[in-house]
Amino acid sequence: MSIYSDEIAKYIWRNGEIIPWEKATVHVNSVGHASVAGVFEGIKAYWNDEEEQLYVFRLVDHYRRFLASIKMVRFSFPYSIEELASFTLDLLRANEYRRDVYIRPYIFQKGIVRELLQAEPGKPVELIIDTWPFTSYQDPERVLHVCVSSWTRISDNVLPPRLKCFSNYHNGRLAAMEAKVSGYDWPILLDDRGKVTEGPGACLAMVRDGKLITPPITSSILESITRDTVIRIAREVLNIPVEERIIDRTELYIADELFFLGTGWEIMPVASVDRLPVGNGKTGPITQAIREAYQRIVRGIDKRYPEWRTPVW
Ligand code: PMP
Repeated sequence: MSIYSDEIAKYIWRNGEIIPWEKATVHVNSVGHASVAGVFEGIKAYWNDEEEQLYVFRLVDHYRRFLASIKMVRFSFPYSIEELASFTLDLLRANEYRRDVYIRPYIFQKGIVRELLQAEPGKPVELIIDTWPFTSYQDPERVLHVCVSSWTRISDNVLPPRLKCFSNYHNGRLAAMEAKVSGYDWPILLDDRGKVTEGPGACLAMVRDGKLITPPITSSILESITRDTVIRIAREVLNIPVEERIIDRTELYIADELFFLGTGWEIMPVASVDRLPVGNGKTGPITQAIREAYQRIVRGIDKRYPEWRTPVW
């Protein structure tokens, strides 16, 4: 199963222009090193059928994180959050989307390999905004069987997980491949102290004794926007107490409920960890309540949190 679709957009945004997707090429000489410090975002826009409106979810927050990553890789970057948001809306309109869309902005340093190897701050950059349609899978039967990975999660002084750059994703890729060849759907990574962090591409939360518990943002995780959304929904919509605290590995084995959360995965229940069932091995009631509330909020069916939804049309 992939969380991405095979469909390709008509237009892509590149350095200020909306151009045909096929024309957005880069010279092979620069690809490897340009992508080492390449920074990206993953954003979703959800179609509301009744209102015939496309809502981009937490657009400003995603671009705030994008600029934070760009600062940490020391790129000089000319655009503001407001400009990035307006480029994105222009592109969504050019592509005439009237369905759910994934949005992938990314930035890398321009140049040929010998220049890129110098690692000089402030060199010119390319900004691309790509998009593709996706279908949100909210199959209530779909659950994941996961393992605790033998790979250690990268840490702040090695490759900072807070920085959303392409290089970081090799860590999760190694763990995901190990999980798959061992017959699991997905891995959970521990940090260098053996504490729970997240999965490749998604954060993690568990339920114990009616409380929602998730690792703090200093536990080698990405500062996830879905994590923030889920914490707010749990506390403010569902009245569920939330704790942000370090999680031990063995707590995964005795949790009542466990789920991944992220823009791509949305809310994805975990049915077993290292072959030990989580709860009764089915999607738990709190996970289900959060999942339903999340779906209604991102689409604007539930009208609360209007500041999270930017209308396209
Ligand atoms: N952790 C990692 C490593 C991720 O790649 C993602 C997806 N962007 C997340 C967590 C979830 O972050 P968000 O909720 O902002 O999509």
